Amino acid sequence: MAPPPLHCPRCGRPAEGFEGCRSCASEGIGVNTPPPLADLTSHHLAVYPGGPWGWPGTLPTTGPPVTLGEGNTPNIRLRRELPGTQPSVGAGELWLNRGSSAERNAAMAQSVAERGWYPLTSYSSPSPGGNPYANEGYKSVAYELARDFAGRAIGAVVVPTSRADLLAGIGRGFRELAAAGLVAQMPRLVAAEPARSAPFTAALRCADRADQELTRVTDRPSVAFSLGEERPCWQGLDALWRSHGTAVAVTDDAIMAECRRLAAEGLIMEPSSAVAVAVARGPAVAPGELVVAVGTATGLKGLVS
Ligand SMILES: [Zn+2]
Repeated sequence: MAPPPLHCPRCGRPAEGFEGCRSCASEGIGVNTPPPLADLTSHHLAVYPGGPWGWPGTLPTTGPPVTLGEGNTPNIRLRRELPGTQPSVGAGELWLNRGSSAERNAAMAQSVAERGWYPLTSYSSPSPGGNPYANEGYKSVAYELARDFAGRAIGAVVVPTSRADLLAGIGRGFRELAAAGLVAQMPRLVAAEPARSAPFTAALRCADRADQELTRVTDRPSVAFSLGEERPCWQGLDALWRSHGTAVAVTDDAIMAECRRLAAEGLIMEPSSAVAVAVARGPAVAPGELVVAVGTATGLKGLVS
């Protein structure tokens, strides 16, 4: 069965390939082109088995799953303290070795064109975000959270954000759940960014959405080396708008302080994950509110002294 057709959610035009909407790109705006939302009305959260393949009918694909056993990541309760109590740690303790985004995009484009690679991430500019079919797997994060916190209203979900694939996928998952009446309300989504590369935080300072779409910042390397983008991918703005969410930038010092604090609690998270926890401890979350900070990768992939 062929995958469902893709359309631009911003301008409505049909789209092909993995480079987003070409019409919107000509305006300088990277817009991903997701498939239609799934209908969850016949689904029951209590028996959701978890993982991106837990409800295969919600994915724009058929055939046997290819999996390493993803999903059912445990939710770990953290003690929340007032901001300002973190120790200051120098950012120079993390080693960076990093090529430019342009070099990376060129390598990806060449691999797709000459070697027939199937792209699971973006390589065009302005970036629309990653492969719109693959991104549908991120919806399962929302399904799992709704299942695991059944009966409790999640106030906010904080997501480490660069091109906003995960943020947008979680947002789409909650939209499907809300449309089917499986959750009473959508949580606010909060994009957590390193201050040295924070296009969403910069964009949301603009009152007008048209100005937000065209925001551009300098992408400077940070300790959160998995994150970094010059422009706010439209899929992320859309997710923030729909959920009445926000974006928060965190300094390198605060990110590294959070890494240390998490390590003291037995959680080894890379700085690009710790940025979400740092935001969740801060003023973007209301006192007493149930907030989930999404961790995306282990700290063992980096070198933190
Ligand atoms: Zn468009």
